Formats: sequence, structure tokens, C-alpha cells
Amino acid sequence: MDNKQVAVFMGDDASPEVMVPTVDLLRGMDLGIDFIEPVVGQIAKEKSGTLFPDEAKAQIDAADATFFGSTSGDSTPVLFYLRWGKQTFANLRPCVYVPGFNSPMARPDGIDFAIIRENLEDLYLGLEGDTQDLAGLNLYSRHARANLGDLGPGKYAIKAITEAGSERVIRFAFELARKRDKQRKVTVTCKYNMLAVADGLFLEIGKTIAQEYPDIEFEHFIVDDFLCRMITNPHALDVVVMPNLYGDIMSDGAAGLIGGLGLAPSGCYGDNYAYFESAHGTAPDIAGQNIINPTATVLSAAMLLDYLDLSAPADQLRQAISTVYADTANLTVDQGGSASTSGFFDALHRALANT
Ligand code: ATP
Repeated sequence: MDNKQVAVFMGDDASPEVMVPTVDLLRGMDLGIDFIEPVVGQIAKEKSGTLFPDEAKAQIDAADATFFGSTSGDSTPVLFYLRWGKQTFANLRPCVYVPGFNSPMARPDGIDFAIIRENLEDLYLGLEGDTQDLAGLNLYSRHARANLGDLGPGKYAIKAITEAGSERVIRFAFELARKRDKQRKVTVTCKYNMLAVADGLFLEIGKTIAQEYPDIEFEHFIVDDFLCRMITNPHALDVVVMPNLYGDIMSDGAAGLIGGLGLAPSGCYGDNYAYFESAHGTAPDIAGQNIINPTATVLSAAMLLDYLDLSAPADQLRQAISTVYADTANLTVDQGGSASTSGFFDALHRALANT
């Protein structure tokens, strides 16, 4: 059988400190995967005059998936391509407590839910500008009881919720609830009271799709109420789906529930492609110190393996993570330990060898 192809980007700041050893770990598992590192950023610019050459794009296209280290600068065009170019509309961010995670909750055992963040629209279309440019449209605010143009100088950002964009991500949520086969429940959350038109559409589509899934429970909460529920009773959640901005914020909060950003993996799925990256950013404040927690990246790698139909090694990776956390000796500083990133990886290699 032909090897699978995975395009890899090591990322910026502290990202390579977790990406390089994770890819080494995967290589060592002998999974029949070729890891290809497209050349992008400054090196590509010096060679071919562009930060993101066509050759790199072609390598992403030819790969079965991409494993992406967080980026802060020159490889941002790659991220935009992976999202909008490859139409990866569903950002899945599991929130699963593993004993040993440094959770602030009194009873974190059993927290196991998934946030699905719509990944391509809402306020993230980048449609911003000067409010005065819209003055001619006579946009009347029924809340402020004034025309936008009369509010004085300022800026706007457009929030767009489309029917097709909402439908596909909400359907993804219902399918996931079936696949997880846990509480078999989907929660829709957004601000459908204040934003009755845009977020109202998201909710209405949720209600419509729910009718096609009688085996899946459906509920909805206004996003502020949802946040309170997520903190006070996270065990009641199974699959939660929401527009982009809320998903960005809520999923970092969800990571906080189990013990922090260093623990939160993520995958972005389209109809024909997916890429995987930790939910956290490049952690520039701790770059170069060998203290960044690799857990989020390793668990993202496990999601990548699931996507490639390699669920047995994916489970092995998750089991090895659980083993490392069961013994507090090798935890990183963010988890209350004193191990370095490389010390954590050493422990992970040992755990993997024993699974
Ligand atoms: P972005 O805008 O891309 O989310 P950011 O700089 O706002 O990036 P992060 O890079 O996610 O946010 O970092 C937020 C904080 O969490 C920083 O203090 C960072 O050091 C910490 N952090 C993030 N990831 C990890 C990790 N894997 N291990 C330890 N600390 C982390």
C-alpha cells in the first residue's frame, strides 16, 4: 500500500519546540506516513520571491492532510490557504480531562465534550473599515435609534452568517454526536437575542437540521448563559457548535477548565481536506526556554492519525499521554511540574514503548 502523505509546518516562536519532537515521535512509530516539509516564509522568499510559493501549495494539495505548527508571521498565508483555500469549515476542539491535568475544577473527572467552531465566516472575513464609508447607505440602528453615519468617526467590522456555512458546520456537529456515541446531544450557542437576524439564522438552521437527527438531543443557549453553564456543569455537554468568534473564545475557556492551553488539541475539517494544530498560539513569551507543554500538539497528532484511519496508533498516543500524566514526575511547569519539554518527550517515548 502507498504511504500516506502529510505536509508539516513547524511554525514560529515556541512552536518548533513541540512540533519537531512530535513529528520525530510519529516517524519513530513507523506508520507508513511520509512527512513533507514545504518551504515557506523568508527562506522561500529568498529563493523564489514569495512567502508562499506555488510549489508549497501543490505539496499541501498533494498531501492527505497537514500538521501545522502555530504561526505568528511569515507563514500566515499558509494558514489562510489551509482555511479558506481548502475550505476547512469545522474547527473541532475536544475538551477532555485526563487524570493528572492541572484542572482548577473541584471535580474534573469525566469532562469530555467537543466544541465545534465555525472556521470561515462570522467576523473573521476581515471585512472592516471606516464607518464614514458606509454613511451613504443610511444604515439605521434600531438599538441606538440613529444612522450609523451620525454616530461620529469610527470603524466597523461585518459579521456574516451564511445559510450554507451554518448548515455544513451544524451538520458536522450532529454527525460527530452520532460518531462519539456518548450523550448523543448537540448544543447550539450564539447571541440570538441581540443578533436576532444573523445569529438567529444560525439557531434556526440548527433547529431545522435537528429534525433530521431524532436520535440526537438538541438544545440551545444564549452564549453568555452557555459560558456560565460550561463553567458550572461542563459534564452536561457533549457536542457544542457555534459561530467563529464565540468558538475562538469559548474553546480557550474550555481549555482552562481542564488545565490550560497547553492541553488543548484541534483539527480543522473540510469536505476533502483537514489540518491539525494545537488550539494555542505560538507562545512567544516562553520561546527558546524548553518549557512549552507538548500535550496539545501530541493530541492534535492523534487527531491527525484518526483522520488518516490510523486509530490504533492514535489511541496508543493518547494512552501514552495518560500514562505520563498518571505519574506526576514528568509534567511541565504550566501543569505544576518542573520537567522541561524534552524531559516530557523522554517520558512520552518510554510510555509509548510500554503501550
Ligand atoms: P494566538 O493569538 O495565536 O492565540 P497568543 O500569543 O495570544 O496567540 P498563545 O500563544 O496561545 O496566545 O499563548 C497564551 C499564553 O498561554 C501564553 O502565556 C503562553 O506562554 C501560554 N501557552 C500557550 N501554549 C502553551 C503551551 N503549550 N505550554 C505552556 N504554555 C502555553
